[in-house]
Amino acid sequence: MPAPRVPAAFVLAVLPAILASACRRQPGEPVFVIGLDGQAGPPRADTALVVPDSVPPPDSLALPDSLPPDSSAIAPPVYESLEGAHVLAVEVHGSLYATLQEACPDGDPDVLGAHLTRCLWWDMDPWHDICAGDSIIAIYHDSGAGMENRTVALRYAPVAGTSNSAFALYQYRRSGDNYPSYWHPGGTEVIRLLDAMPVSTFEEITGVFGEPRGDHGHGGVDFKAPEGTPVRTPHGGRVVRMNWNTEYNGQCLELDMGGGYSEIYLHLQGIAPELSCGSTAACGSVVGWVGSTGRSYSAHLHYQINDENGYAIDPYLFGGSHSRSLSGADLEAFRAFTAACDSMMAAGAR
Ligand SMILES: [Zn+2]
Repeated sequence: MPAPRVPAAFVLAVLPAILASACRRQPGEPVFVIGLDGQAGPPRADTALVVPDSVPPPDSLALPDSLPPDSSAIAPPVYESLEGAHVLAVEVHGSLYATLQEACPDGDPDVLGAHLTRCLWWDMDPWHDICAGDSIIAIYHDSGAGMENRTVALRYAPVAGTSNSAFALYQYRRSGDNYPSYWHPGGTEVIRLLDAMPVSTFEEITGVFGEPRGDHGHGGVDFKAPEGTPVRTPHGGRVVRMNWNTEYNGQCLELDMGGGYSEIYLHLQGIAPELSCGSTAACGSVVGWVGSTGRSYSAHLHYQINDENGYAIDPYLFGGSHSRSLSGADLEAFRAFTAACDSMMAAGAR
């Protein structure tokens, strides 16, 4: 996982006042505030995690952007294929990682665990809510040939006596998308897209806000995408700084959106040449391209929003987010695929 330039210390503050407000997260979902430079962030008792009037509304980006023509990473394999896939059926004891170490000692349980965690975190908090006795059945493809493990389908069932809910998800590439995503059995997307997205095409969200990363919490959202994928500012703003702490951040950019809020883009391949400190980027304009500069292990965009006090806030709480749904032929094909996955998981669980 790429290591972002985020503070050395953080505080995870669950803020009932915000949860009770009209934010778009579901009740019970944590709200995080991350302090800068080792300082704990102050609890946010207000409801400022709503775009203030002074910030321009997101542009309706006339997208999707096509993938960069020189990218070799985007001839996607047939993700929906079950050929050669494995079934993993485990009852969790200890941590998820410890469970996987025992369950697949010949594979790469750390990489698989990381991928399973990315699948789980939209429906639960995989760092705090997994309990001994929970069961997970997953279909996955081995890593290899430059590919990480791929989770094809997953079923989670909590042990009796906890408040966790059971859920299932399946990978499927929707018509018109460059990459597959994950969907619940009814055809609703597992991941949520920001209403104001900085990239219009990406392979996977590989980091969420507040995710534990060693001694700190992740301060932004990571979008894994091929190098050269255009990065657009959904809000627009004035360039505050460029290319600071490049050892960690790589090529990077901060835009003042107004109202004290700023957008930060890290690990860029390059910054739009017309931008300089003090210049203005219009809503929806390309401000740079996805890269892997600085402390980054694969091409991705680290997208962060800071508040008026310089504290990172969850981009999913700053603006709105939504999940898409499958319909028509996509839904039909998806249902056929989920049936095949269910049969395979049922057989593998025996
Ligand atoms: Zn990041």
